[in-house]
Amino acid sequence: MHQDHCALGLAPLSTVARNSVSSALDIAQAKPVQPVTLVRPHAAARAARFFVEKFPGRSMYAVKANPSPELIQILWDNGITHFDVASIAEVRLVARTLPEATLCFMHPVKAEEAIAEAYFTHGVRVFSLDSLEELDKIMRATRNASDLTLCVRLRVSSEHSKLSLASKFGVPAQDAKPLLFAARQAADALGICFHVGSQAMTPEAYAEAMERVRAAIVDAAVTVDVIDVGGGFPSSYPDMAPPPLELYFETIHRAFESLPISYSAELWAEPGRALCAEYSSVVVRVEKRRGNELYINDGAYGALFDAAHIGWRFPVTLLREPQSTVRDHPFSFYGPTCDDLDHMAGPFLLPADITAGDYIEIGMLGAYGSAMRTTFNGFGSDETVIVEDEPMVSLYAEVEREAASNVVKL
Ligand SMILES: *Cc1c(COP(=O)(O)O)cnc(C)c1O
Repeated sequence: MHQDHCALGLAPLSTVARNSVSSALDIAQAKPVQPVTLVRPHAAARAARFFVEKFPGRSMYAVKANPSPELIQILWDNGITHFDVASIAEVRLVARTLPEATLCFMHPVKAEEAIAEAYFTHGVRVFSLDSLEELDKIMRATRNASDLTLCVRLRVSSEHSKLSLASKFGVPAQDAKPLLFAARQAADALGICFHVGSQAMTPEAYAEAMERVRAAIVDAAVTVDVIDVGGGFPSSYPDMAPPPLELYFETIHRAFESLPISYSAELWAEPGRALCAEYSSVVVRVEKRRGNELYINDGAYGALFDAAHIGWRFPVTLLREPQSTVRDHPFSFYGPTCDDLDHMAGPFLLPADITAGDYIEIGMLGAYGSAMRTTFNGFGSDETVIVEDEPMVSLYAEVEREAASNVVKL
C-alpha cells in the first residue's frame, strides 16, 4: 500500500530548524499551537551504523520510507552508500542530495521516460522487473545497454509480515524461468530480489523466501550474481516486539551461503522502516476530550495515516511536568480534519486524567509517518525541530550500550 504514496512525500514540507533543543518535554513546554515533528539524527545514525556493521552484505536505504534530504544525508554520513528508489522524483532527489550515491531503481513497473532519464542523466544501472514487458521497456529505454544489473522480483509470501506486499508485484514461481533466462541474456549482472512484506515479525519469512529463490535458480539453471532480500526488517511498536535483528541477519546469511550461486555473488538488502522509524516522532496537543476519545491536532491526513487506515499502534507518552501519577487508560484519537475517517482506534494508553491542553508525543513516526503527511483541510504543519533525547523505543540503544560496556571491560 505504501507504493501508492511514492510520489506524495517528495516535496519536503519543511526544512529542519537550526536551533536544537534537548527533549520532547522542552517542546511541549513551549506550548506549540501546531503539531511539531521531532527529529533525532543520532537515532538514524545509530541504525545506519548497525546495518553497515552487522548486515552480512550491502544495505541500501529504501527512500520511500522517508525521503527527507536531511535523513538521507545522515545515512550517507554513517556508511549507507546505495539507495533504493522507486520513482523518477526519488531518483532526482537522491541524485541532487548525494551526487556520489549509487541509485537502484527497484520499482518493477516504471515509466519508459523515467528509465531513460535514470540511465542517461543520473547514471542508474540497477533496475528491477517482474515481467518480460518490463524487460523490453528497460532495454528500449536504455538503447540496449550492456552494463545493466537486472534484478528479477520473485513473488513471495507476506504471511509473517504486518503489511502485505505479496499481491501487487513479483513474478510467480511458474513464470520465473523464461523471465530469468531472458534477463540473463540482456544483463551484465543478474539479480533476484523479493520483498517479504513490511514489519516481518520472524526471520523465518526470509528463510522461506530464500527457498523460493533456490527453487527458481535450480529451475532456470542460470548464473545469479546478486541476491537482494529487500526490506521488511521490523521496528518495535506496542504489542509488536520483534526478535533481535541479528537473528534475521544470521538466518539470511546462512540461507545465502547455501544457495547455488557463484562464490563472488553479492548479498543486498533494502531496509526502509528499520533505518528510519526511530528518527522522528510528533508532538501533538489535545484540543478536546470526549470520554475515552481525544481530539488531537494531527491525524490520518498528517503523520498518522497508518494509525488510521491499518490500525497501527504507535507508542505514546504524555508530556507533562510534574508527571501524572494517575494510572493509564485506553484512548482513541480523532485527527483535526472534518472527516470521520480521521480516526485512530488505538488503543493508546495514556494517564486517565489527560485533558484538553495536554501535549502527547507519538513515537516511531520516522518511517511511513512523516513521509505521508498532507495539508488536507488546511491542517498539517511543517515545523520540525532537532532533539537530542532518546526515541521512546529503540532496537539499537541497547546494542550500543552493550558495545560501550564491552569496550570498557577490555
Ligand atoms: C517499501 C519497500 C522497501 C522497504 O520496506 P521496509 O518494510 O520499510 O523495510 C524495500 N524495497 C522495496 C522494493 C519496497 O517497495
